[in-house]
Amino acid sequence: MSGFVYLLHFEKPIAPGRHTCQHYIGYAADLAARIQAHETGHGARITQVARERGIRFQVARLWHGDRGLERRLKDRKEAPQLCPICGRGCAVGYAEEIPAEAIKDYLLAF
Ligand SMILES: [Zn+2]
Repeated sequence: MSGFVYLLHFEKPIAPGRHTCQHYIGYAADLAARIQAHETGHGARITQVARERGIRFQVARLWHGDRGLERRLKDRKEAPQLCPICGRGCAVGYAEEIPAEAIKDYLLAF
């Protein structure tokens, strides 16, 4: 089954001792429901912790794909390089205007 592989970019480090922003790559057949689950602290441990700590995230990038693609992207361990926000340097902060445009561009590309 094909759906979306998505990259979440967190506005700042979640784990103590981390100095760069963090990411999460996931797969969803129903993207909207999945992102909503993450926003309410469900779906993954990292989004649960982020919510507990008041750390926001953005959907930074989308791919059409399946769990196989999710696995390949995770295995590359190159989330910062895959992230359009971090492509400008892994800034600690929240750049609201970038992901919205990035997502729109990716969706239009399909
Ligand atoms: Zn990023």
